[in-house]
Amino acid sequence: MPQPEIEIRGLHKSFGDNHVLRGIDLEVARGDVVCVIGPSGSGKSTLLRCVNLLEEPSEGQVFVGGTEVTDIEVDIDAVRRRIGMVFQQFNLFPHVTVTENLVLPQRRVLRRGKAEATKVARENLERVGLADKADAYPAQLSGGQQQRVAIARALSMGPEVMLFDEPTSALDPELVGDVLAVMRVLASEGMTMMVVTHEMSFAREVADRVVFMDGGVIVEEGPAAQVVGDPRHPRTRHFLDRIL
Ligand code: ADP
Ligand code: MG
Repeated sequence: MPQPEIEIRGLHKSFGDNHVLRGIDLEVARGDVVCVIGPSGSGKSTLLRCVNLLEEPSEGQVFVGGTEVTDIEVDIDAVRRRIGMVFQQFNLFPHVTVTENLVLPQRRVLRRGKAEATKVARENLERVGLADKADAYPAQLSGGQQQRVAIARALSMGPEVMLFDEPTSALDPELVGDVLAVMRVLASEGMTMMVVTHEMSFAREVADRVVFMDGGVIVEEGPAAQVVGDPRHPRTRHFLDRIL
């Protein structure tokens, strides 16, 4: 067995008395796409945020590319550079252009020179189909375009893995498809991805595995076709019945 790209062992997370993650074990192989589904409040966002240390796990270990990111000696900034994250809210800088949104973090975090950062920005805008919006400001773009910029910004940092937390949930329905299309391309290029989503057709078609979470535990996981198409656990079935 090759080393998994992401490995989560015995992960717990509490906020005060609220024991949100109650023992998560999960491996994501390099190049795999894992979709995480489950009801609101089940801990999906907290799980992703523990992987890139936006939240500090209460217990357990997380490894990315073989490095234990939960090791107290680890350089958190170095870890985050290896992990791209895309949120429901795009969080673009509103006062600078699309290109500058991609250039600034590269310069600040990676210490890239302006010419190189601009070149990388251009390449990644092309990758998400927005080369023509390089000089636009975020407010001039649709939500779907803004989210594609956010994806391009994350890609500009050269991440080994990408985490997506409901990337299409804030979008008008007609804009969802373009964002999912970009994610499909990334998946086909071999990016390792964890995707929290309610888009079951995306999960079925793109995910190698689907994880169903409820109450801070993984209730069921398996190949997408099985978990979404023929769930074994009654709680998974109940959840899918409600959203499909
Ligand atoms: P999901 O993404 O599945 O909807 P979350 O991971 O956002 O679930 O939240 C799970 C639980 O953790 C909720 O009860 C939520 O209120 C709580 N929670 C999440 N983040 C925080 C935080 N930063 N501080 C306190 N409670 C939090
Ligand atoms: Mg969430």
